[in-house]
Amino acid sequence: MNLEEKQRRLKEIANQVERCRKCSLWKNLKAVPGEGNPEAEIMLIGEAPGYHESVQGKPFVGAAGQLLTQLLKSIGLERTQVFICNILKHRPPENRDPLPQEVEACTPFLDEQIEIVDPKIIVTLGRFSLNKFLPHEYISKIHGQARFIDFGGLPAGRQGKERIIIPMYHPAAALRSSIIMEEIKKDFQKISQFLSEEINLSAEKQLPDKEVEKKSKQMSFL
Ligand code: URA
Repeated sequence: MNLEEKQRRLKEIANQVERCRKCSLWKNLKAVPGEGNPEAEIMLIGEAPGYHESVQGKPFVGAAGQLLTQLLKSIGLERTQVFICNILKHRPPENRDPLPQEVEACTPFLDEQIEIVDPKIIVTLGRFSLNKFLPHEYISKIHGQARFIDFGGLPAGRQGKERIIIPMYHPAAALRSSIIMEEIKKDFQKISQFLSEEINLSAEKQLPDKEVEKKSKQMSFL
């Protein structure tokens, strides 16, 4: 898909998000579909917009967002180079946890964004984002480790694709705990390292499956 087509389709999703009435969250200020480079190698997925995000219609612009911007800068990335979005596209009242039916209603938008941007790496920020891809895992156990998963298939019947997931703590959790702050800083440093490793791994995709699988397991960055 070329850049123009990606831009057009992402805009279309943003329009659909704005018109969406599948749950009641649309009543809360602005929609926050997500933003960034349509050709980003890295997509970061948070939980849901907070107050500041829903005022501006942009993801991660409050305190957690400022930390995210700094973390990206620490590995030489500007926000414009990555794609940032959330599991939910509207703010839940009082920043409560997303409800299952809200997640379900928003899922097609996010799945389509993933398909269009087609990032090499998906960084999940927080529990809800992690559990979209790895429903039985805990951040405390696997943060900072790369996981290869077969994800995709939109709408039903379309073939999935191997994706690299790097689970991270949510930046808001890092603002509340100095221990988590240290962990998230270290985990971010692994992203650029992993991007170059991934390129090597792609070259090895010609290897028999078992060899690729072995290599993937070695790249857990523990
Ligand atoms: N927290 C999130 O998960 N997403 C945002 O966009 C802002 C705060």
